[in-house]
Amino acid sequence: MNAEIISVGTELLLGTTVNTDARDISLALAEIGINVFWHTVVGDNPARLTECVYRARNRADLIITTGGLGPTCDDLTKQVLARCFDRELYLDEEAERFVRDYFARRSNLRFTENNLQQAMLPKGCTMLPNDCGSAPGCMFQDSLVRVIMLPGPPRECNTMLRNYVIPYLRQLSGEVIRSHMVRMFGIGESAMETKLRDLMDGSNPTVAPYSKEGECMVRVTAKAGSEAECETLMAPVLEEILGRMKEHVYGVDCASMEQRVLQLLEEKNVSLAAAESCTGGLLAMRITEIPGASAHFKGGVTVYTEEAKTALLGIDPKYIQENGVVSMAVAGRMAKRVRKTLNSDLGVGITGWAGPDGDDVGTVFVGLAARGECYVRRLQLGNNTPRGKIRTQAVNNALDMIRRYLTGLDV
Ligand code: ATP
Ligand code: MG
Repeated sequence: MNAEIISVGTELLLGTTVNTDARDISLALAEIGINVFWHTVVGDNPARLTECVYRARNRADLIITTGGLGPTCDDLTKQVLARCFDRELYLDEEAERFVRDYFARRSNLRFTENNLQQAMLPKGCTMLPNDCGSAPGCMFQDSLVRVIMLPGPPRECNTMLRNYVIPYLRQLSGEVIRSHMVRMFGIGESAMETKLRDLMDGSNPTVAPYSKEGECMVRVTAKAGSEAECETLMAPVLEEILGRMKEHVYGVDCASMEQRVLQLLEEKNVSLAAAESCTGGLLAMRITEIPGASAHFKGGVTVYTEEAKTALLGIDPKYIQENGVVSMAVAGRMAKRVRKTLNSDLGVGITGWAGPDGDDVGTVFVGLAARGECYVRRLQLGNNTPRGKIRTQAVNNALDMIRRYLTGLDV
């Protein structure tokens, strides 16, 4: 089955709203083996929407629209779709009950007559309940094509999709798509591709490379009659990738480096503390974004100035003067001192030049202290590197050092 998503909304064309609904629908359809061949975005304009629907009807087996199901005069999707498929709009009893009930159960909302517009459905539709809003969705089948209309607000769109649309489509499609994401650090995209090039020619499973912010990923995707068959197809390819990429791989299907690190801290029952200068607390932020971080992350300090490094970590100003504030020595000492101050198993110290001005921009030292050991990594990211990227890379490297330390690899 080949699908087209038509996203309706002038705000999407103006760029004030990002079309996350289309992304979410594509991701969900991929999981059940439906190809999405087109994303169309059109404003709240009946003539142009009509044009899009005619074109979609000629090339897709499934049309999913988002937006324009609400009660206001710019919400035109159902009217236009009904006209395109020669179906009258009628007041659907079930939908009317749904809308009235929605308002009756909310003392802060008042039902007005235009809300009944939300209960008007094209003839021959099935209503789709909205579990977190007032506008029901609907779907119908025409001789050529299936049509599904979903609300625009992302939470409503997603919930309706997951609760009603995907279960319905899954039984039609007969095929499932499964994929695994292998995540790597410490290798460039082209080096990774060189190592895996021959695996990328396969068609089932497919192997596709990605890279983002210093990380590399490959997605392995298989299509088959069942989840188990997909796994069987992917297993040997995954094994081959892991065998070739070895210690660069920090996880399969894990969400991020910080998540992998937290998982390792948990497994090994190890605690962590951080002293950050140029990253201004970014490491602490990324780790504490994960629920449950408090069990292993003790805390951190942002010691942005030399004065702060002395006042909060007790680093002697002379030591800073002699070595330079951005130096291997100071990064190491920051790591050791924060470890000691917070009585943690591991301590991280990050100091560097994030720029944009200065000759040494892109030079960062990342220290990792454990009992009786201290490692410092020197990064030379180049002085044209944007500030944000330097900070992200500094944190990525700190996470990589922790991961390597905890898995017994050379730090
Ligand atoms: P409502 O009942 O809120 O009017 P609706 O189904 O009529 O819902 P729209 O009016 O088109 O939907 O959009 C409502 C809001 O949902 C928009 O202001 C926008 O913020 C968001 N939205 C709409 N379409 C999308 C989309 N494709 N991706 C992400 N957000 C969207
Ligand atoms: Mg609306």
